[in-house]
Amino acid sequence: MTAKKLLLLTTGGTIASETSSTGLKPQEKGASLIKQLGPVPYKIDVEDILELDSSNIQPEEWQLMAKKVFCYRTKYDGIVISHGTDTMAYTSSILSFMLQNIDIPVVLTGSQVPINEVLTDAIDNLRLAFAAAANCPPAIYLAFNRKIMLGSRAVKVRTTNFDAFESVKVPPIANVTSDGIVYTGWKPVSPTKPCRLQDQLETHVALVKLFPGFDPQLLYAMVDNGCRGIVIEAYGLGGMNFIRRNLVAVIGDLIHRGIPVIATSQCLYERSDLTRYEVGRLALLEGAISSHDMTAESAITKLMWGLGQGLDVDGITKLFNENLVGEVTLTPGDAVKL
Ligand code: ASP
Repeated sequence: MTAKKLLLLTTGGTIASETSSTGLKPQEKGASLIKQLGPVPYKIDVEDILELDSSNIQPEEWQLMAKKVFCYRTKYDGIVISHGTDTMAYTSSILSFMLQNIDIPVVLTGSQVPINEVLTDAIDNLRLAFAAAANCPPAIYLAFNRKIMLGSRAVKVRTTNFDAFESVKVPPIANVTSDGIVYTGWKPVSPTKPCRLQDQLETHVALVKLFPGFDPQLLYAMVDNGCRGIVIEAYGLGGMNFIRRNLVAVIGDLIHRGIPVIATSQCLYERSDLTRYEVGRLALLEGAISSHDMTAESAITKLMWGLGQGLDVDGITKLFNENLVGEVTLTPGDAVKL
């Protein structure tokens, strides 16, 4: 059997960092990461495309990564992207939307400890990512600490522990045990058409975490300064205040002005359901769009992507009631429950 041909695109992050006088910063090249991997049964090419802490990774870098993956996908069996952990779940979410129907596995990974330190997790994570890129069905994944997660479902949940990522609303695609890659039965969405690069984004959006006392009038300040869509991290199943400070009424007004407002939950685990309580139902009646069980990372990037495709409030409402890449679990009637 011929060895699978894989590509490593490096972007920086802790995995490639070294100590400097200003703190840890990415400096290692991809060739050096590969050298430290030890023998693997794949033919690996490397391209260093960025050298950034992922706190500095923004939509322009997402577009670069998407273009590289799109161009290289016909030449390789799989692609690994090494990336800082801090914003990796945003990148894996947005790449999932920009590269729908991707026809090879694309796997993001990183590490909590730089590769050249004795107690590093980088080597295990990179080996896992290459194994996933060589074996998993086509999709965008985030692989970390012996878990292979769908890119649109992963969240960074820990700052220092090696188990830094979880697939919070659905099981990971696979876990690694002494049996190898053990699939959980949760499957990525299979490609239905040829992959297209859809990398137009609207970056003037906001993700607002609600807290008791939040002044809804501040949302007007955002919109008056060019904000084109808002994700609200509401309480519990998706509740938001309507007495004294009437957030529900402001949301209704913004929606009438053509600004889509998505309601997601502050709770990391499980879904939101705005139909259950009055504090959610009233928001739905005003036109708030439920994100169901999407992560906040997926909700904000899906909004950026949808607005970037030129969708208006109705188009965004429809988009959030569609499962594009496995990012959301929809139950029959979700869109019309009221
Ligand atoms: N600050 C680093 C980054 O996101 C953290 C890491 O990679 O673990 O680039």
